[in-house]
Amino acid sequence: MTGQEFFRDTQETIRAAVAKLGHSEGVYKVLRNPRRTLEVHIAVTMPDGSVETFLGYRSQHAAVFGPYKGGIRFHPSVTKEEVEALAMLMTLKNAVLGLPYGGAKGGVICDPNALPLSVVEQIARGYVRGLRDMIGPETDIPAPDVNTNARVMGWMLDEYLKSTNAINFSVFTGKSLNLGGIEGRAGATGLGIAYVTREACKVRGVELKGARVAIQGFGNVGRGVAHAITSLGAKVVAVTDITGGVYREEGLDVAKLTEYVQAHGGVAGFPGVEPLTNEQLFALPVDVLIPAALEGQITAPVAEQIKAPIVVEGANGPTTPEGAQVLADRGIMHVPDILANGGGVTVSYFEWVQGQQGGLRWSAETVHRQLDTYMTEAFAAVRAYSQRYNVSMREGAYLYAVDRLATGMIERGWVPS
Ligand code: NAD
Repeated sequence: MTGQEFFRDTQETIRAAVAKLGHSEGVYKVLRNPRRTLEVHIAVTMPDGSVETFLGYRSQHAAVFGPYKGGIRFHPSVTKEEVEALAMLMTLKNAVLGLPYGGAKGGVICDPNALPLSVVEQIARGYVRGLRDMIGPETDIPAPDVNTNARVMGWMLDEYLKSTNAINFSVFTGKSLNLGGIEGRAGATGLGIAYVTREACKVRGVELKGARVAIQGFGNVGRGVAHAITSLGAKVVAVTDITGGVYREEGLDVAKLTEYVQAHGGVAGFPGVEPLTNEQLFALPVDVLIPAALEGQITAPVAEQIKAPIVVEGANGPTTPEGAQVLADRGIMHVPDILANGGGVTVSYFEWVQGQQGGLRWSAETVHRQLDTYMTEAFAAVRAYSQRYNVSMREGAYLYAVDRLATGMIERGWVPS
């Protein structure tokens, strides 16, 4: 899918939700485009002394409930339209989670894995110099995303503080603990997915203790959810990644698999298991299926093969619109990304709150307890909309988000009621 198609699909999702909710066209007109998108050309000195430029964007969509928030990705396939669509989805995700934020996203067209670290650092610093008037602890708070991490946030934070003479570290989240990060950020997305899976199991009458779970992807999200769901009593029986797949009827030893992946770069070759393809993974007779790798994996034909009664989206956009329709028609509970993987941004919010309170530290236990509350409440709100409108959880999540946004816009006088 191109960035333009992604942007148009996202607009269409919002338009359909506004229409179904009976809100005025003005609501759609405000939400159909980002408020602004900044384009920044970043000049960098390469190791051979030549100068190269890299193109980056920061898009701020709609700040109905508070400052803009969303990650920054470094990837060769970044486009303006993709960044803008992702900013829109952040507005919806923040609204579903009940966070006091609008949506934003940033991206730089580069392949950091093929560049020396010194060049990546110059890109990070140059990007922030380009955006410094647009971001801030009370205007727009970026965070890590694809190919960016706490180290990149450290460089970006330093550049922002130096170039604005500021002292407030809350302008970025996803920082190292030492620089004011928060306990539990690394596993937050996975833990949030595990909490909503628990809620979905309750609704579907599936006993979480001993429930059989299959996960596509064993990166930050896949690994995190595998650990978290195991600690809640479920059994991860199947995992695939870029190197292959592993299946064990009695359940995989997630801790040993993690060690193995760290040592060997992937799950392929893990001893004492049966090999498995993605195709087989999606068709397994499990209780819960969690796509946590890539977008566009559950197409209509794949959705026809799924036997799990519950699909929880760990990745962003793992289901195509046609795949989602098949899941809905087959009565499979489909918990969408904007709800299920919101644990990361929710714990980012906690990090921001800590920083805004003068650097007060929350314990890991407090973080987990609060995250559970946010995820459980968001799940219940989305379910209420899906029941009220007799639609899937996926559509219910869009309706709930857009209704909250429309109501906020009316209350603030942006659009007539
Ligand atoms: P990651 O790069 O850490 O891991 C990706 C995983 O997918 C790896 O295990 C990789 O081997 C696997 N993979 C790649 N190609 C595959 C294939 N063809 N078949 C099976 N597995 C394959 O990325 P991540 O941070 O875990 O993110 C995964 C998804 O979750 C993305 O869609 C991302 O946007 C989304 N997400 C991430 C976070 C976060 O906090 N990291 C938050 C919200 C959403």
